[in-house]
Amino acid sequence: MSKEDYWELLRKEVIDEGLCTQCGTCVGLSKGKLRFEEKKGIPLPTLVEEKNSSDIEKSCYSGCPARYCSYPKLNRFVFKKEPKNWIPGITKASHIGYATDEKIRRNGASGGVITAMLVHLLQTKKITGVICLKMGAKVPYKAEPVVAKTEEEILACSQSIYSVTPVNTILEKSAKEKGPLAYVGLPDQVASIRKLQQQGHPSAANIKYVFGPYTGTQMYFEAIQSFLRSHSVKSEKEIVSLQYRAGEWPGYLQIKLKDGRVLKAEKFYYNYLIPFFITSSSLQVADFTNELTDISVGDAWSPKYESIKKGFSVVLARSEQGIELLREMEGKKSLSLEKISLKDALDMHGHMIDFKKRGSFIRNSWKKSSPDYGYQPQNIARSRIAVEFVLAAVFFTGKLRIARWVVEHLPLKIVGPCFNTLRLRWKNASKSTKRKGLWETKFIITEKKE
Ligand SMILES: Cc1cc2nc3c(=O)[nH]c(=O)nc-3n(C[C@H](O)[C@H](O)[C@H](O)COP(=O)(O)OP(=O)(O)OC[C@H]3O[C@@H](n4cnc5c(N)ncnc54)[C@H](O)[C@@H]3O)c2cc1C
Repeated sequence: MSKEDYWELLRKEVIDEGLCTQCGTCVGLSKGKLRFEEKKGIPLPTLVEEKNSSDIEKSCYSGCPARYCSYPKLNRFVFKKEPKNWIPGITKASHIGYATDEKIRRNGASGGVITAMLVHLLQTKKITGVICLKMGAKVPYKAEPVVAKTEEEILACSQSIYSVTPVNTILEKSAKEKGPLAYVGLPDQVASIRKLQQQGHPSAANIKYVFGPYTGTQMYFEAIQSFLRSHSVKSEKEIVSLQYRAGEWPGYLQIKLKDGRVLKAEKFYYNYLIPFFITSSSLQVADFTNELTDISVGDAWSPKYESIKKGFSVVLARSEQGIELLREMEGKKSLSLEKISLKDALDMHGHMIDFKKRGSFIRNSWKKSSPDYGYQPQNIARSRIAVEFVLAAVFFTGKLRIARWVVEHLPLKIVGPCFNTLRLRWKNASKSTKRKGLWETKFIITEKKE
């Protein structure tokens, strides 16, 4: 039998079907044979011309989380059991928290919890480094995956990056580290790491701790380019520094330019770009709370914390070593943690949980070929499917060149607040349908038992 062409499989089943989530694994494990190339603003893995595709190793395909990614199987591998509740995944404890080190808290995207955990693990010598994203590592407007090995390097990697950044392209390099390492990634990137660990692949063997942000929506870099154009800045090369969550929580987009100008947009105003530049992966992946991590962290959206500002995170501990870490840090007073019920923690994000745990499954069911997560909602009400048609129309319109042109030519002072008002109105109008039956949704296991 001739050798399987794994590039051909990946191309046919994932890339050509529009399922690639840009996790970066295939490129990272390809020994330079694959690279990301932008096609119509979307970065996609591409064969480097002169390289022979039959040499692409199996893990580039088997580590891909986009088409086949059995959550029941991965849960059994990571946590030795399947979740009772598929909405949050396995959760041992839920908290509201923040880093007590004011600098870490202020620099963080929400409460600085992820950065504080990484610093603690390094200080206590439980890890030798962290795979995370550093803004401006090569060019000021882009983030790159790095292995941060000092406290300063970890601090320089705090904050959220809302443009697509394939973390797992670093795997070949990070595999050379003795470790143990910690890893921070989005849900699809984490799922790929877990797949590789389950397969016993050496590239992920040195990763001991896995953390990750909740992940609602992400945008293509074109969103930043559009934002620049709407301020009459022609190229991203004019950028000196870019922060997606600058200033006090919840923060604002801040872009400093070579000519000394500083462009700012409040987080909720900058969100007007979401319908125009949302990634297909945000619409596809059903995991919002980063279910395969040891600890996952999101913004603590609640009027109580939002009125205090400063920065608060919602923190879900999923594994025993996750729980131990939180206990240790609480003991050392490096994290402030207040226990809350899982229900209260999830209630803060009902809208996004619905967007993923029902919305993603509806959207995926409309595709010719869709991801196989090994589980799915048993039944989704027709009224909820109708809501998804409205959203699909919004995203379809947002992709049109004319719509993007119009929004670019309207002043942000008007677009930002208008978008925010429309968003809140839509949220309120669709709330009852979106919440109806959400917490009672029954999920069925669809994976084929081996
Ligand atoms: C694309 C994206 C979408 C999000 N959507 C939501 C949402 O809808 N609701 C919500 O509550 N929270 C969301 N979050 C999470 C939130 O923005 C914070 O990341 C989270 O609350 C952790 O805050 P922190 O202060 O503890 O993290 P920090 O201490 O600031 O540390 C953040 C860590 O995450 C890493 N990181 C940042 N961006 C990325 C990325 N793109 N890929 C991989 N690693 C990254 C950094 O390198 C750093 O190590 C999102 C985050 C991202 C990146």
